[in-house]
Amino acid sequence: MAMGYASPMNTLSALCLSLLLAIAPTASARPTNPPVVDAAQAIADVRSLTTPEMAGRATGSPGGKLARAHVAKRFGEIGLSPIGKDFSHPFGFTLKNGKRYDDAANVIGALKGALESDRWLVISAHYDHLGEVEGKVYPGADDNASGVAALLAIAAHFKANPPKHSVLFVSFDAEEIALRGAREFVEKPPVPLEKIAAILNLDMVSANIRNEVYMAGTYHRPWLKPYIDEAAERAQVKVLYGFDQPPSLTNRKQDWTVASDHGPFHLKGIPFVYFGVEDHPNYHQPTDTFANFNREFFVRAVPLFVDVATVLDRELAEIAKKGGR
Ligand SMILES: [Zn+2]
Repeated sequence: MAMGYASPMNTLSALCLSLLLAIAPTASARPTNPPVVDAAQAIADVRSLTTPEMAGRATGSPGGKLARAHVAKRFGEIGLSPIGKDFSHPFGFTLKNGKRYDDAANVIGALKGALESDRWLVISAHYDHLGEVEGKVYPGADDNASGVAALLAIAAHFKANPPKHSVLFVSFDAEEIALRGAREFVEKPPVPLEKIAAILNLDMVSANIRNEVYMAGTYHRPWLKPYIDEAAERAQVKVLYGFDQPPSLTNRKQDWTVASDHGPFHLKGIPFVYFGVEDHPNYHQPTDTFANFNREFFVRAVPLFVDVATVLDRELAEIAKKGGR
């Protein structure tokens, strides 16, 4: 169209086009705030998993089975689909000392991707804890009722805002017994391992008085950091990186690379993003109770995890490529 000439129709078209351009999101548009989550529901889930009846959720114990049932019930309420006939995936194992566990089970729910359903992001948080030891109950509010509640918040978010790629929500059993639930998963995966692009694992995400949470995984795969940075920049808590290098390289004594359920995935070559707080006075103590649960920090941290999950899903094709998946 020549300059200075515009028919009424064309003027209207141009106006419509400029309006469209003004409101259409561009590829580089990024949210400025973390997602809004149902904080009351997340706190209620921590409370439900730490009642006296749960009795510390030891693998195979009545309390452990109650916790499993609670997670499966919440998966159903949220609208996740089982892989197979049930959310519960039973397994058994024997320890080196001969002790046999016949009644362990991971809880697994799925949401199919709107764009590409054959590529999976696994999001995990173990529900088991230490149970009762020498007459004392270890409720495990931080370890890991907090992670399970955050996992459920992510599932609810993705149900309302369908993910591009398929997401598998996994609440592992027997993490406290040498990661047996995660090891069972990678040996008998409910979806092909090669279709899993990455795992986001949450274990101990509430007990911190400095408003800090650690992300581990970027030592092994530095290219993951920009994805976490994006969510960290708009988060209400401070994200620190570390605890993923051999202790000989740092002044820290701990390397969390295989310290939680992401470990068996890492050993199978699956990129991991782990979030957790530093060890604290209530860590693996009977005092890790709902009364001592830091709900203020927790409700600021959960939107970060939802945000990270959203970024990982958005970028999952790129992540799979970079991770050689
Ligand atoms: Zn744990």
